[in-house]
Amino acid sequence: MEIACLDLEGVLIPEIWIAFADLTGIPELRITTRDLPDYDVLMKQRLRILAEHGLGLKEIQAVVATMQPLPGAVEFVNWLRQHFQVVILSDTFYEFAMPFMPMLGNPTLLCHKLVVDAQGRVVDYVIRQQDPKRQAVLALQGLNYRVLAAGDSYNDTSMLGTADAGFLFHAPDKVIAEFPQFAAVDTYQELQQLFRKHSERRIT
Ligand SMILES: [Mg+2]
Repeated sequence: MEIACLDLEGVLIPEIWIAFADLTGIPELRITTRDLPDYDVLMKQRLRILAEHGLGLKEIQAVVATMQPLPGAVEFVNWLRQHFQVVILSDTFYEFAMPFMPMLGNPTLLCHKLVVDAQGRVVDYVIRQQDPKRQAVLALQGLNYRVLAAGDSYNDTSMLGTADAGFLFHAPDKVIAEFPQFAAVDTYQELQQLFRKHSERRIT
């Protein structure tokens, strides 16, 4: 029995904070962990900026609802779900990711959560657990599933390394060079091929 685990941002949809920064015209929201490595400091800064611009949950979701999956992503997920149970393992927040789920056929999504007060203001966030992608793969393997996984960045590498087969998709050169043990591809056709090749079943 096999399960496919996919990263979300950079694999199926654009980087949400970057797209959100562009759509709202708030360039400070483009700052990522590459610029500010302490995630807690970064998130607190993002929440402060959202508050300063009067962006609560309702406004955030209205902006996110105008975004689209990456070209070809919907077809890829449809194909994948014909052959595997699919779980999305993401470091984003449900409040950002949920508007994308109907577009992707409502796959299972495991990610983090924002804390919203009665007025709809985003006041904090809750990380589901530490090293959540790796923990999810370990849990699925504990249920006797063989896990095939794909992701695009550093926060995916512990998931890819724990999975029975792990692939890099759309990864920056730096990540590919640092993790040569993972096959790296750039198109959904090639990614399909990798899932086919590494599946224990014969997928035509
Ligand atoms: Mg990603």
